[in-house]
Amino acid sequence: MMCNEIWVIAEIRQGRLTRSTHQLLGAARKLADERNLQPAALLIGGEQVHAEELAQKIPLVLRIENSGLETYEAVRYAHALRQLIEKRGRPKVIMTAAGSSGVEFMPRVAMRCDSGYASYCVDLFWEGEEPACRRPVYGGKVYEELAISTVPAFFTVRPGVFPVPENLSETGRVETIPIDLPEDTGLRIIERKGISPGKKDLSEALCVVAGGRGMGTPENFKLLEKLAEVLDGAVGVSRAVVDAGWMPHDLQVGKSGKTVSPGLYIACGISGAIHHVLGMNTAKVVVAINKDPDALIFRNADYGLVGDALEVIPELIKAIKSKT
Ligand SMILES: Cc1cc2nc3c(=O)[nH]c(=O)nc-3n(C[C@H](O)[C@H](O)[C@H](O)COP(=O)(O)OP(=O)(O)OC[C@H]3O[C@@H](n4cnc5c(N)ncnc54)[C@H](O)[C@@H]3O)c2cc1C
Repeated sequence: MMCNEIWVIAEIRQGRLTRSTHQLLGAARKLADERNLQPAALLIGGEQVHAEELAQKIPLVLRIENSGLETYEAVRYAHALRQLIEKRGRPKVIMTAAGSSGVEFMPRVAMRCDSGYASYCVDLFWEGEEPACRRPVYGGKVYEELAISTVPAFFTVRPGVFPVPENLSETGRVETIPIDLPEDTGLRIIERKGISPGKKDLSEALCVVAGGRGMGTPENFKLLEKLAEVLDGAVGVSRAVVDAGWMPHDLQVGKSGKTVSPGLYIACGISGAIHHVLGMNTAKVVVAINKDPDALIFRNADYGLVGDALEVIPELIKAIKSKT
């Protein structure tokens, strides 16, 4: 059974709908309008207040209800989504942000539905009647465009690649759909570690100030925090910094860390290894500060500053403060 809908799975972090969710609502509406489909937001385990907020932006909100969905767990989320598809019919497209949860549960459901799944998309469009995407492959060396012929087509989308739509205004309706979950999913959560307390969420930040091994010591990261503060940004780090135990893994940007697409990315003392660049190469403007003029990071930068980050950053902070 099919349904003529496009679903965006909403994400809630720190009690709020994420910026990526808003971006995807805009993308889904555009795709839906182009093929006369119904765009809908899907809330798995969120609260009524979030459903109502979504209903102001999209005509239909499907709220999946079960007390076992209050906190994220991949097997339960996959189960819930699968059941909704069975109850309601197969939508043309299901999309969510390519965050750590999206890339975990979406392929599980795609596999169960015998459907195509594409991860880390940077654009979505129609190829004839098939939904299609553009996404980096081979470690970001090339981009591929692929269309998915199965229904539904599953996509996870890199945060920040679509703008936040300004004029979404709706009086949408909320449908609450109860579902059953298995008692035992075979998984037992031992501990949950969230974003480091007091830190901004990297994937959502409009400005990221990132530091690498070139920052020299863990104490020097206080400088980055100051720069991030004056720019209202978040601090990110390279893997070398995490491996050295200087900063926690939830701040890592790159292939084995987070993918970010801020308006401004400032890379300080980062060499620009492909594994790092993969996590930030869709940032709108990249500024690199490195004392080696041949550092690879300059190839991915819009503006480069050759110099000692420990000297340049305080000057930057002073200059920004004098302008604000
Ligand atoms: C499977 C795999 C996955 C990986 N995933 C990731 C990932 O997710 N994220 C990630 O970041 N890496 C990842 N890596 C590691 C990656 O390949 C690099 O080793 C790492 O990014 C290097 O970190 P870095 O640039 O901080 O350190 P380095 O490569 O040591 O570079 C330090 C830079 O700082 C500059 N510098 C030194 N002192 C100063 C100063 N005072 N002022 C200014 N500049 C200075 C140097 O010129 C140099 O360019 C992965 C590797 C593998 C194999």
